Amino acid sequence: MNKNALFELSYGVYVLSSWDEGRPVGCIANSAMQITSSPMTVAVSVNRKNHTHACIEDTGRFAVTVLKETTDPKLIGTFGFRSSKDTDKFSLFPYSVRGKLPVLDAGLAYMSCRVVAKWETATHTVFLGEVYDCDLIGKGAPMTYAYYHEVLKGKTSVNAPTYRAEREHKPQDRARYVCTVCGYEYDGDVPFEELPGDWKCPLCGVGKEKFEKR
Ligand code: FE
Repeated sequence: MNKNALFELSYGVYVLSSWDEGRPVGCIANSAMQITSSPMTVAVSVNRKNHTHACIEDTGRFAVTVLKETTDPKLIGTFGFRSSKDTDKFSLFPYSVRGKLPVLDAGLAYMSCRVVAKWETATHTVFLGEVYDCDLIGKGAPMTYAYYHEVLKGKTSVNAPTYRAEREHKPQDRARYVCTVCGYEYDGDVPFEELPGDWKCPLCGVGKEKFEKR
């Protein structure tokens, strides 16, 4: 069995959002798809360890925001690698309440959904949502998971359905410096040790001190 077969599936990059007692919460998702057009439904897969998962369970609602290729990688780093439990992610990026849910202004489109069914797997819950509001809010090309990996050199959160340890940790000849917050691996021409003190992780924005030599 060649597990690489599964990496030939295509995905987008989305923000799933909901409310935690009036506070906006959200996380990155790559597994979101339309299931039916009448009624209009979409399905999303969320790891039960994500704080946003508990909030979707509580409120019975979630929004899917489609990100575009020009999305600030820091937004993906923040929403993908930090927890809404201890980071107020929506205070860092402008958002509006659309369809009664928090939606990032940087998005291309959004769908606000009411949970109508769910399916538990070993690690993730698949929520089926009926879309009760949706609109286009930006212009550009939707970001795909492949673009995120190949062009932005993005990494996969351990909570993502597509995470695979051996793919994220390729051995290399030179010393590797990896961001302990988001998993970004430094691959610039300037040796990591010679980067200025105020250098920041291009994905999640933390300083050099959060990088680990591996
Ligand atoms: Fe980082």
